[in-house]
Amino acid sequence: GSSGRLIIVAYRLPFKLVRENDQVRLFQNSGGLVSAVLSLVKDTRMPKFNTSEKIQWVGFSENTREELEGQSLANEEFQAHPVFIPEEVNENYYEGFCNNLIWPLCHYFPSLARFNDEYFEAYQTANRLFFEKLDEILEPDDTIWVQDYQLMLLPGMIREKYPSNKIGFFFHIPFPSYELFRMLPVRWRKALVDGILGADVVGFHTNDYVEYFLKAARLVSEYGNKLHYINMSNRIVKVDSFPISIDFEKFNAAFDEPEVMQARNDARQSLKEKVIFSVDRLDYSKGIIHRLKGYQRFLERYPEWHEKVSFVMVVVPSRDTIEQYQQMKSDIDQTVGKINADFGNIYWQPIIYQYRSMPYHELVGMYTASDVALITPVRDGMNLVCKEYVASRKDRKGVLILSEMAGAAAELGEAIIINPLDSQDIADAIKQAFEMPVEEQTKRMDAMRERIKDYDVFAWTNDFFTQMTMLEQEHDRLR
Ligand code: UDP
Repeated sequence: GSSGRLIIVAYRLPFKLVRENDQVRLFQNSGGLVSAVLSLVKDTRMPKFNTSEKIQWVGFSENTREELEGQSLANEEFQAHPVFIPEEVNENYYEGFCNNLIWPLCHYFPSLARFNDEYFEAYQTANRLFFEKLDEILEPDDTIWVQDYQLMLLPGMIREKYPSNKIGFFFHIPFPSYELFRMLPVRWRKALVDGILGADVVGFHTNDYVEYFLKAARLVSEYGNKLHYINMSNRIVKVDSFPISIDFEKFNAAFDEPEVMQARNDARQSLKEKVIFSVDRLDYSKGIIHRLKGYQRFLERYPEWHEKVSFVMVVVPSRDTIEQYQQMKSDIDQTVGKINADFGNIYWQPIIYQYRSMPYHELVGMYTASDVALITPVRDGMNLVCKEYVASRKDRKGVLILSEMAGAAAELGEAIIINPLDSQDIADAIKQAFEMPVEEQTKRMDAMRERIKDYDVFAWTNDFFTQMTMLEQEHDRLR
């Protein structure tokens, strides 16, 4: 194994930095990537890095250079290296290129994509700023793991100056079919593909995304591939699927935590006999309006369920300074209001809707109180909420209704798989779920739980780094 350090490069740092008087305090994020990376340290079965060193993390700083001068930016696990990006650049880079172009394009919303030369210039500038920070700290044995669509040019920049460091790249959103990718100007397409191919191992969530990327590499830069391998002139790149996962044991064990049990009991007491639950960030990719239309159809077609069902729909605020998102929020507000007005009465509110984030115990309380998790994205790289729902069902009950457009559908075939654009499909799935015998619920849950338990977030990171290590041997074999 390698004895060097692990360096993560991601748009976000692993903690929020908050200034109090003259001190900067660190609040560690609990997001998926942070726990995934921490699992590399916790997993002592196969130490791949120098464990006496902290994990180095290069990421964008919301604070200015002056504010952080002389402060320690480390906790037990992570040493942060902040990247300072001027505000105008960050706007065109992050809000612009990343969230107004790449995000909608990769989620099959080309009509929302904004093409703007300044966006791409800022994207190059920002990737360069991440590189310069990395350049200050990089040592010969270090392994670098670059994350996501904000940093596609970075692996190429690193490779140019550091031909022999190991570099991994992971793309967390869907890589789109070529018909969408080709909407980008030719020079942008080529820069992005070449940038990504600076890495040794390139990971996506599903085999489809891998296929689409390999096709883009063939058509944009004429790189041929043998199965998962792309042969560059002096090295080989492995492109493969690594479906990201969750800490299965954490969610499984949460079932019996007193706070979670309390939340579960409170929910069951105040809700009707059948409970449907959904939670997502506010985003057009999540299919929230389609979900509401499906529920409306259910109430229209199956009136025998009136007054017997509560749909708890939680939307977590996100990007709501952007006009598109505000518009979407008000569409959701209106649709919920209309359904409650049309179907509800003084004894029954069909939808209980909240626009806020949920504390962890309350979230798992709702997962475990629900008869149905209704997860209907029109496009989603993976979707972790459905995996968390399954993992938290230690009682082996409950039904998952899952969109075929979520990456997770490739692994969770025992869910009731629906087309999120089809209201009738959603309505029938809800009915089927309500009528499903407990034995069948358990059979399906067991199969899904087994799979997520086997391939949890520890297996995900382990798998990725095993591939990095094996590639060195395969180099010789494939040449
Ligand atoms: N989550 C959260 N705050 C909440 C509710 C949920 O951070 O108030 C978490 C949830 O537990 C899950 C993540 O947000 O881990 C959502 O991940 P997913 O892949 O489903 O969607 P994304 O938001 O990344 O598109």
